[in-house]
Amino acid sequence: MNSGNEYANEHSALASVYSPNQRSRIMKNNLQKKTILVTGASSGIGQGIAIRFGQQGANVVVNYHSDEEGAKSTLDKINAAGGDGFIYQADVSSEEEVKGMYEEAVKKYGSIDVLINNAGIQKDSSFSEMTLDEWNGVIKTNLTGQFLCAREAIRLFVQKPDVGNEAKAKGNIIFISSVHDIIPWAGHVNYASSKGGISMLMKSLALEVAQKKIRVNCISPGAIATDINDDVWKDEQKKAELLKLIPYKRIGQPEDIAKTAVWLASDESDYITGTTIYVDGGMTLYPGFLENG
Ligand code: NAD
Repeated sequence: MNSGNEYANEHSALASVYSPNQRSRIMKNNLQKKTILVTGASSGIGQGIAIRFGQQGANVVVNYHSDEEGAKSTLDKINAAGGDGFIYQADVSSEEEVKGMYEEAVKKYGSIDVLINNAGIQKDSSFSEMTLDEWNGVIKTNLTGQFLCAREAIRLFVQKPDVGNEAKAKGNIIFISSVHDIIPWAGHVNYASSKGGISMLMKSLALEVAQKKIRVNCISPGAIATDINDDVWKDEQKKAELLKLIPYKRIGQPEDIAKTAVWLASDESDYITGTTIYVDGGMTLYPGFLENG
């Protein structure tokens, strides 16, 4: 086993042999030419994640639902950063369309290495007013959609050659959940239920496939400025109310999630599976107790 000193020695050995540029390439991660499928990548968090993987030199399958222009703009940025990819329209809640998307990814890149299960929607309503359509719509996209995409990814991962006991995985799934997988949310019961469901889907799946050298984790964002919540962060009064719930006192950006996703998808985090990383500026720290304990 390496001691901390040995790691420090290795690091300084790297420093003496390689130029800063080479070093940054080596230390960057192992994502160059890896294939990453990002659902809901035409806007917001998914777009930020897809571009960030493009910057690592990855191949990115840019899934979108209806915003083709948004998807094209994601792909342009991936290409400009040195990555490769293609856009693909599919509704993540349609088994047939999800299968078609994976077939296209296999045709172009042979397989995939990482799934970012990001697509999600909100349809808000008080509980007694919530229609069955509002309930089903959110569960279908946020939970069933993530199930379908994860299942196809696992079916591909298990066909890959063995990696033995090396510190790297055969495949990697990251579910984009929400702080509302543990924080109850009045007026959003369908959304919170879908995210709570993702949490248990992630953990049960992680347990089932760990011995196959497949990693499965969640990133749970707090308040990130995207289209899904622009009615809040574009309104000064609502924004001030929101900031009361964020001890770190800033609203997150898609890049905050993207940086975490790149690290969690890389071999740098190889020993992590079955875990949720809250990227939330402290929103899950019970901010009401700051002064009222
Ligand atoms: P967004 O609305 O910009 O992105 C959602 C994306 O999902 C869109 O591109 C949309 O087209 C796509 N999508 C919706 N239904 C789809 C379907 N059936 N098939 C394929 N794609 C579909 O919002 P966002 O904030 O970027 O949300 C991304 C994810 O992050 C969601 O799962 C959301 O629940 C989660 N999240 C967001 C926040 C936040 O504060 N923004 C916080 C916690 C969790």
